[in-house]
This record gives sequence, C-alpha cells and structure tokens, in this order.
Amino acid sequence: MKRWRVGILGATGTVGQRFIQLLEGHPWFAVTAVAASDRSEGKRYGDAAAWKLPTPLPARVADLTLAPCRPPLDCDLVFSSLPGEMAGETEAAFAAAGYPVISNSSAHRMAPDVPLLVPEINPDHAQLIAAQQRQRDWARGFLVTNPNCTTLALALPLAALDRAFGVEAAMISTMQAISGAGYPGVASLDILDNVIPYIAGEESKVETEPRKILGRLVGETVELSPLRLSAHCHRVAVTDGHLCAASVKLRQAATVADVCAALESFRGPAEALSLPSAPRRPIVLRREPDRPQPRLDRDLEQGMASVVGRVREDPLLDVKMTILGHNTVRGAAGAALLNAEFLAATGRFT
Ligand code: NAP
Repeated sequence: MKRWRVGILGATGTVGQRFIQLLEGHPWFAVTAVAASDRSEGKRYGDAAAWKLPTPLPARVADLTLAPCRPPLDCDLVFSSLPGEMAGETEAAFAAAGYPVISNSSAHRMAPDVPLLVPEINPDHAQLIAAQQRQRDWARGFLVTNPNCTTLALALPLAALDRAFGVEAAMISTMQAISGAGYPGVASLDILDNVIPYIAGEESKVETEPRKILGRLVGETVELSPLRLSAHCHRVAVTDGHLCAASVKLRQAATVADVCAALESFRGPAEALSLPSAPRRPIVLRREPDRPQPRLDRDLEQGMASVVGRVREDPLLDVKMTILGHNTVRGAAGAALLNAEFLAATGRFT
C-alpha cells in the first residue's frame, strides 16, 4: 500500500488533536500539513495547540507550521474537523482543488451526492463519489463524511437490529460528554454539579442522519430509511464517551436473546478488508447489569466500538438498551480515519 500524505483542517482542536494521535505511526498515512484559523496561522503547531491528550504530541507534528484553511496544502488528501458553520465552503474548495476531503463536520453530511459513510454498514454508499465528481465537475477531489458522534454510536446497533429484524422506530435519550463541545467547550461553572438538557442542533442530527446511513443506494442516490427516531440530548459532566438510553420498536418479533445474538454477531466488510483501525468487534455486548459506563468501557476496541449493555424487554416498544460510544474516537477522528482506510483499500485515492 502506498503511503499517503495527509493534511488536517482544524488541527489544533479537540478532534484535530485526536487525528494527530491516531495517525502517529499509521501504516498508510503520515501527517504532512496542519491548518487552523487565522489566530493560529504561521505559528509552530506545538506553540499554537493546547495539547490535551495523555500521549505525547509527536515531535514531527509539533514542528509543522500551521497553514490557513485554503488550498493548496502540502498533502494528498485532507481530514477536516472544522466547525460546521465554516466547513461547507472550505471543504468544497479543497475538493474542487483536487483533494479528497474526509470530513467529520456536519456541513455536507446530508447532501444527496455525499456519502455519509460507515464502512461496516453502508460501504456501497461510497459509489456516490463517482456521481458527485461528475455532477460537480471535480476530477480528483471529492467529499466523504462520517456521522455525528452520537449518531455513530447508535447507528451500529441500529444497523445490526435492522439487518436482523427491521427497525421501525427508536426513542433515544443521551448523556453526552463535555469533550463533544470542543475546547474549551462548556464552562466548568455551567457543567459541574449539573446536567444541561440542550445541545444546539444535536437532536435533529440524531433524528435524521441514521436514516441516511441505513438508507438504500438506488442508482445514484440514497433512499432514506423509513425508520422514525426521537432524541432527547443532554450534556453531562463526563470527559469522554456519549451514553444513550435507547428503546427500539422492531418490525419482526425477537426475544432478548435474539437481539443479543444479532448485536454480537454483527460484522461489516471493514474487518474483512483488514483495515488498520477497524475494531475486531464493531459492537461489544456487555452482560453485567451496570455496564456500559463511560470511564470503564469507552476505550474497548481502542475506542472504535459501540458498547451495548442492559438489553432487556421494553414494556412500550420492543427492546431497550444502553449504548456507549467514544465521541472523539469512533464518533469523530477514528470514524474519519476508518473511512479513509476504506477508501484507500478500495482504490478511491488516485
Ligand atoms: P474545537 O476544539 O473548537 O476545534 C475547532 C478547530 O477549528 C480548531 O482547530 C480551530 O482553530 C479551527 N477553527 C475555528 N474557526 C476557524 C475558522 N474560522 N477558520 C479555520 N479554522 C477554524 O472543535 P472540535 O470539537 O474539534 O470539533 C470540530 C468539528 O468536529 C466540529 O464540526 C464538530 O461539530 C465536529 N465533531 C466534534 C466531535 C467532538 O467530540 N468534539 C465529535 C464529532 C464531530 P484555532 O485553534 O486556530 O481556533
């Protein structure tokens, strides 16, 4: 496999730092460019970024100079972790300039010609890239997105249940980590000893993105899944790891044992292709009565799995469960990295 040179847009932020951590020593990708806002432009990365991860900032990246977020950039493809408001135009400019853009931002996720890709669930949606390039008259560049952090954690178990029994509807309540708001994020005086029952824009993302992820590719478009979702999203005083309580209505009757078997046996082509970041188990099932818990379970499978527990009958719908996902790993940088590995392995970077 060729070694690709990658740039990171929004490199100084919470997700940008996670990209740098996950890309250190990667067999296929090496970070050659970093970019952020004009506040950081021209500075040495190690001086501009307030590094918050427990592993050391790689010395080679620390010495890179931060570029502005506009092409050209010294790399073959870019990862984007820009704020949603400004990601739209910037990412499209990079794609138009010939860079594959593997984005973690929300701006293009629901665009009809942009894959909202989760390799274990909808690898065929990558076929939208050809239509996108043709329609937008882009030769080498394209846009591929990964879902919102909460959506990703939910999408894996929903896909497993949809594949086995069909899912008609789900009711979801989330307890989301502070790191999901970026850095410095929510003020400590607002979140300590508190729960904030509002995260701007989050509920609509959780209610719509799974419908595209589980949707069917028909020709050059994705037919949204008829699945109906209702979400309540809360910010809680946890550093990393979004926890969701989900009640699910199935299309076909299933026992709790059937549901557990469907979750545990769920696999996708990401593992078959031996992608370096693919979790061995995309869904980890915990059978203890008090798991998953963010602090104890978020790092299972290197943070790349959806951890499900407390699977039981639901007296109103059919089955209920608790779901946990690491928001900055599988919910953000890890998801984009897995997408890039899938695209590299399937010959999408020319
Ligand atoms: P963050 O910590 O606030 O970082 C934002 C990054 O964007 C920084 O590198 C910042 O650079 C840069 N930036 C801000 N304004 C800019 C501008 N006008 N031009 C160019 N660069 C600019 O945010 P984050 O948590 O990493 O989130 C980044 C994106 O990922 C967002 O779209 C977010 O919704 C999404 N996301 C986040 C998570 C999560 O768990 N945190 C999960 C999934 C998705 P400076 O340092 O120079 O200001």
